[in-house]
Amino acid sequence: MTGEPLTFKGLTVPYTTGWSSEAVTLTGNPDLMLRHPPGGGAPYLAYNDEYPGAEVRPHGVLWGRMPDTPGVGEPRFLDMNISRQKAVMERAGCSVCGGNGEVWMTPAIIWEEYLAEDGLGAPYETSDPPVCRSCIPLAARQCPNLRQHGFVFLAVRKWSISGVRGYIADPYTLDFSDEDFDVPLHGAIGYDPDSLRLTLAKGLLVTLRGITAHTDPEKVTGLGRRRGDDQRPARGRRRGARIPSQRRGD
Ligand SMILES: [Zn+2]
Repeated sequence: MTGEPLTFKGLTVPYTTGWSSEAVTLTGNPDLMLRHPPGGGAPYLAYNDEYPGAEVRPHGVLWGRMPDTPGVGEPRFLDMNISRQKAVMERAGCSVCGGNGEVWMTPAIIWEEYLAEDGLGAPYETSDPPVCRSCIPLAARQCPNLRQHGFVFLAVRKWSISGVRGYIADPYTLDFSDEDFDVPLHGAIGYDPDSLRLTLAKGLLVTLRGITAHTDPEKVTGLGRRRGDDQRPARGRRRGARIPSQRRGD
């Protein structure tokens, strides 16, 4: 993390933005396959070259494979690179410079949709990592959604990593959905193991709760409290279980 965003023809390119050299059809990867658990049970999505039983599943889901070559080719401002988006979201980093995130910022049009459909007080799920204060003007200028539709800053009581955006495979044919879906992770509301085991993830989602929207970022004092249990790997975690980050000596 250098804190210095890349530039292209004088434009600042956010850390999470995808580049043309990284553009791949994730669902077209020839190594994708359906694997059947040895003892029976429903098939799950895997890569051919993964060793069965030792697959790496960050957040308990299979991730799309995409090159990580920022600065090569041309930026694609509407795309996010999978590994950079995921890494930044995991630590609530700034989506523009990759430093520490300080404020949640969202396109006004999406916020208005949420208010109309879900109503204030409902959880708000987003794939947009936060930004740091010094990157707010850059984010507003460079992100097409923010530039066209305006934006709001969100003061949040608490937040958690809650889902992934991805494609879902057919368990018999391995055909993928054309559209992408938001799929809840283990422990999140709406978790469905049948969907998650067939999901090819391309982005990490967070859920924000207890939100007040502001047009002035100075009214927002921080990111809110992170729900600690969501930072732990899904495997073996009981639903709703909370594990203290520091044990008290007694
Ligand atoms: Zn920044």
